[in-house]
Amino acid sequence: MQLAGRRAVVTGSNSGIGLGIARELARAGASVVINSFTDAPGDHALAAELATETGADVRYVQADMSRPDQCRALIGQVGGCDILVNNAGIQHVARIEEFPVEKWDAIIAINLSSAFHTTAAALPGMYAAGWGRVINIASAHGLTASPYKSAYIAAKHGIVGLTRTTALEAAGKGITCNAICPGYVLTPIVEKQIPDQMKTHNMDRETVIKQVMLARQPSGEFATVEQMGGTAVFLCSDAAAQITGTTISVDGGWTAL
Ligand code: NAD
Repeated sequence: MQLAGRRAVVTGSNSGIGLGIARELARAGASVVINSFTDAPGDHALAAELATETGADVRYVQADMSRPDQCRALIGQVGGCDILVNNAGIQHVARIEEFPVEKWDAIIAINLSSAFHTTAAALPGMYAAGWGRVINIASAHGLTASPYKSAYIAAKHGIVGLTRTTALEAAGKGITCNAICPGYVLTPIVEKQIPDQMKTHNMDRETVIKQVMLARQPSGEFATVEQMGGTAVFLCSDAAAQITGTTISVDGGWTAL
């Protein structure tokens, strides 16, 4: 129970990596706020299930991470946090000249600007406590590029920059800020890309996964949400107290290529 007494907020955590991180933080003893933009009975039921499963205090708070006011209000509403995981993210795939402006704006708002707003709202409480962990979920695409994902890649490179600046401003105050850079993890955001890739490459699902999606992941395997959660728990540990302003790749070797 190394995180007993710590209060965590994980944005965009009613599915995928965010949920995996919330689960591991709760298993390590933190109280956890899970979040998304929806306010469905299933969201609250998910928090209750996680609480029962882990024995931790877990609750769901609705806030739309595309809205600066709601990003800041989320942190205010829960009375601040010791651990902030900026995870909410969306994807859209199109050539730059055909990329819809509203998709660009939404991706920059949710994948990048939300982290600025939640961090700005959370830091004063962390400074007062003399302890804090900000963990930004970037991507292998925060360090490398691929075609047709301009907004996502711009946002993920941006969040790596925000991570470094946050770390420098908070250095020496008991607060660290790092970015986890996952390679492909089989979550809904990736699942949604498979049918298009099958059509584009005229391949079946398994071939597209192996030969297209995992072609840049030398391990040939998806990373898992449990591995993202374990990395986040490590970054919250005393062993990681001097790790700040850096990126941790969990990508099966993608960025070693
Ligand atoms: P996902 O689609 O399962 O999760 C995205 C989460 O963000 C969901 O909980 C969704 O409800 C939430 N969300 C979307 N719009 C929101 C909004 N306006 N306000 C609040 N929440 C919102 O996908 P995932 O793979 O779990 O992605 C999580 C993060 O990990 C994203 O930042 C993504 O870019 C990053 N990532 C994923 C992969 C991968 O292969 N899956 C790889 C690298 C990075």
